[in-house]
Amino acid sequence: MTTQTTTAPLDAIIVGAGFAGLYMLHRLRKSGFNARVVEAGSGAGGTWFWNRYPGARVDIESMQYSYKFSDELAQEWNWSERYATQPELLTYVAHVIERFKLADGIQYNTRVNSAKFNDSTGLWDIDTNDGQVIQARHCIMATGCLSSTNEPSFPGQSSFKGETYHTGRWPREGVDFTGKTVVVIGTGSSSIQSIPEIAKQAKQLYVLQRTANYSVPAHNQPLDPAYVADIKANYGDLRARGLAQPLAYDINLNPKLCSELPPEEVRAELDRRWAWGGLPIYGAFADLLVDAKTNSIVADYMREKIRSIVKDAKTAELLSPKGTFGCKRVCVDTGYYQTYNLPHVELVDISQIGIEEITATGVSAGGRVIDTDVIVFATGFDAMTGSLDRINIRGRGDVALKDKWAAGPITYLGLMSAGFPNLFTITGPGSPSVLTNMIMAIEQHVDFITDCLEYLRANGINHIEPRHEVELVWGDHVQEVANGTLLYSCNSWYLGANVPGKPRVFMPYLGYPAYAEKCRDVAANGYEGFDLSAA
Ligand code: NAP
Repeated sequence: MTTQTTTAPLDAIIVGAGFAGLYMLHRLRKSGFNARVVEAGSGAGGTWFWNRYPGARVDIESMQYSYKFSDELAQEWNWSERYATQPELLTYVAHVIERFKLADGIQYNTRVNSAKFNDSTGLWDIDTNDGQVIQARHCIMATGCLSSTNEPSFPGQSSFKGETYHTGRWPREGVDFTGKTVVVIGTGSSSIQSIPEIAKQAKQLYVLQRTANYSVPAHNQPLDPAYVADIKANYGDLRARGLAQPLAYDINLNPKLCSELPPEEVRAELDRRWAWGGLPIYGAFADLLVDAKTNSIVADYMREKIRSIVKDAKTAELLSPKGTFGCKRVCVDTGYYQTYNLPHVELVDISQIGIEEITATGVSAGGRVIDTDVIVFATGFDAMTGSLDRINIRGRGDVALKDKWAAGPITYLGLMSAGFPNLFTITGPGSPSVLTNMIMAIEQHVDFITDCLEYLRANGINHIEPRHEVELVWGDHVQEVANGTLLYSCNSWYLGANVPGKPRVFMPYLGYPAYAEKCRDVAANGYEGFDLSAA
C-alpha cells in the first residue's frame, strides 16, 4: 500500500473514540489546538462499541457513570435505567458527539499500526491501516484499558465447524441462540451478564468454569424521576462525594472497621448492601480489602447467599468462590445464580481438567466431551497494556515501548513514560483507571493533559517527558500501595495474571483522591518530575 503523509502536522492525534478520546477532542478544540481522533471501529463508544454481547450493561450506576464536565449535558440527559444498557450508552455517546460538534474530528475505520517519534522532526509519525502517515506534535493514546481481547488458543480450535464469538468483539447484528446448544467459556463479568440472556434462547447451555467469581445483584430497575430530580438538583454534591472516595464512585463508604463492630451490625450492614445491590458492597467496611478476617466474613456471607439461591447443592458449591473477596473485580448481575436453577443450564467444572481440545463438533473439557453448536469465549482482555502493545510504539532512538515494558509497564502517574516525549496514555497503567468509575478517571487525565499542553504552549516548550528515576519511584509506590492490601492474593487481570507469559505486576493505582492531589501538585510545581524542553 502506498503511504501518504498529511500536509500540516497536527497539534495532537488522539487514538480511540471512546469516552476518553471524545472528551479529549472536545477539550483540545476548546483550547484552540488542532486535534483529530482516529478510531479502528466504524463507530464511537470504545468499550461500548465492541462489547455488544447480550445483557451488556454498565456496572456503575448511570447517574454516576456519565460525564461531569458539562452541567448542561448532565441536566438534559435522562438515563432510563439504574444501570444503562450497552445500546443506551451508545445513544449517549452519539448525543455527546452531536452536542459538542465532534463528528468532523473523528476518522473511523482507521487502525493505527505504528506510532513513531521522529528524532529529527520532534514529531510523532502515526502510520494507519489505510496508508496514511499522520504527523502530530503530541500523540494521545485513548485506547482503553479493556479493549484488547484475551483469546486463548486451544488445541484443535480451528477445526470447530460451529459458530464462535468473543464477548469483547460481538457482532453488530447480534446472535440468535434459539434452539442451539451453547458453550460459554469463562465466568467473569462478561459471562455473568450474558449467561442469563443466552439461557433465555438456548436449547442447552453449558458454562465452563475454571474459577468462580463473586457477584452481587444489580437490582436494576427503571429510574424513578423523583430520584433523578433529587440528584440533578444537587449533582455537584454527588460528584464531590464520589471523587472523595478511593474508587471515584460514591459507594457510601463505611468508615468503620468490621473488627470494631458487633456481629449483628456486621450482618445488618451486609444485608443493606446486598439489598441495595452492585459495587457499593466494596464500601461495607473500611478494612474490607486490607484485613483478611474482615474479608473472609464478607466472603462467607456471599457464599451463604449463593447457597440460598442455587437449588442444587453441588452447583452452589462450585459457584462459591474460594478466594479473597474483591481481589478480582466483583461482578454485578441480573439473575446470574438463578439461571443455574433452569433445567437446560449446566455448570461444568474445568478447574482440575481444563479445555483439552476443541473438535469439529464440540469441546473436550473437565473430563467430558460436550457437543455444541456455538462456543462463546468470555475469556476477557489483555488489560491495560494490551491495546498499547498491539501498536508498534517507538520513542527516542527507535526504542519500542513494548521492549521497555517487557518486565511490566513503567510510567510516571500512568500518564507518560521516559523516552517517549509527548506521548500520553489516558488511564494508562500506574494510574487509578480500572479501580475507579472510569469516566471520572478519564476526565481527570484529559484535564491534566489539556492543562499541560496549554502550559507548554504558553511557555514555548515543545517536548515533555518524565525522568526515568522519577517513574521508577512511582512504579514502586504503585506496587507498595497494592501490597498494603489483599489485591495481590489472586490471579487477577489487574496483575496481568490472566494472560500467559505476562509479567505479574499490579497495574492500576489504588486510591483516586491521593492520586488526583499528586497530579495537581505536579502541575502546580511546573510539571515536577518531567523534563521540559524547547528543542
Ligand atoms: P475476566 O474477568 O478476565 O474473565 C475471563 C474468564 O475467562 C474467567 O472466568 C477466566 O477464568 C476465563 N478464562 C480465561 N482464559 C481461560 C482459559 N484458557 N481456560 C478457561 N477459562 C479461561 O473477563 P471479563 O468477564 O470480560 O471481564 C473483564 C473486566 O471487564 C471486568 O472485570 C470488568 O472490569 C470489565 N467488565 C465490565 C462490565 C460492566 O461494566 N458491566 C462487563 C463486563 C466486563 P479464570 O478466572 O480462571 O482466569
